[in-house]
Amino acid sequence: QPVVAATKTYTFGTDVTYPPFEFANKHNVYVGIDIDLIRAIAKEEGFKVKVKELGFNTAVQSLEAGQIDGVIAGMNITPERKAKFAMSDAYYPSGIVFAGKSGSSIKNLQDLRGKRVAIKTGTAAADYANSVKNKYGFTTVTFDDSDNMYQDVTTGNSAACVDDKPVIQYAMATGVKLHIISKPAQTGGYGIALPKSQQHKLLVKINRGLKKLRANGKYDQIISKYVGNGS
Ligand code: GLN
Repeated sequence: QPVVAATKTYTFGTDVTYPPFEFANKHNVYVGIDIDLIRAIAKEEGFKVKVKELGFNTAVQSLEAGQIDGVIAGMNITPERKAKFAMSDAYYPSGIVFAGKSGSSIKNLQDLRGKRVAIKTGTAAADYANSVKNKYGFTTVTFDDSDNMYQDVTTGNSAACVDDKPVIQYAMATGVKLHIISKPAQTGGYGIALPKSQQHKLLVKINRGLKKLRANGKYDQIISKYVGNGS
């Protein structure tokens, strides 16, 4: 009997709704840049993936607890996360912006004085909002997912929300009534997070797979499938 090495399956946690990176399409199938990208990397590198839509904060906590093998969820590469996880090379550029309800009187961060800003648990954007809330004099309210956070603004409960520019732009393009009121802050890239123990193992494959996809045009295909021109 020949010994056949079983293809290893890795479980990746992702967000519940973070279009264009992960979202349920009209057939209720999870699609998006992150989903396609991790599957394409796995194909290039000969491993299998299972994607679990856990929500951003839960995904990161599950990774910390060793319950999943990785996180791909529009996750910014930050110094804090690099200290905790093995982070892949950047696969998409991003930056943090504030957005108010379209047509509202909120036009800039100064207009937020005395107002409430919706933030999302465990995100770099939430940390950023908390770091400037005294300067601009706003309070915060927390949500676990971006949809509910946006809704709190469009229904007029909060004056603004804070999230990543490509995600807010996608929401606006798909009919969410928001307008951006700040310049992108903390610009950087999204990375795939793995346990530190994978630094010289799975991380190497993921970075190599990503390079192959950039070289063979598949990366561009995935991006343009969801955002057209890649911006
Ligand atoms: N990019 C943000 C972060 O890394 C939020 C990610 C998300 O909400 N899925 O914190």
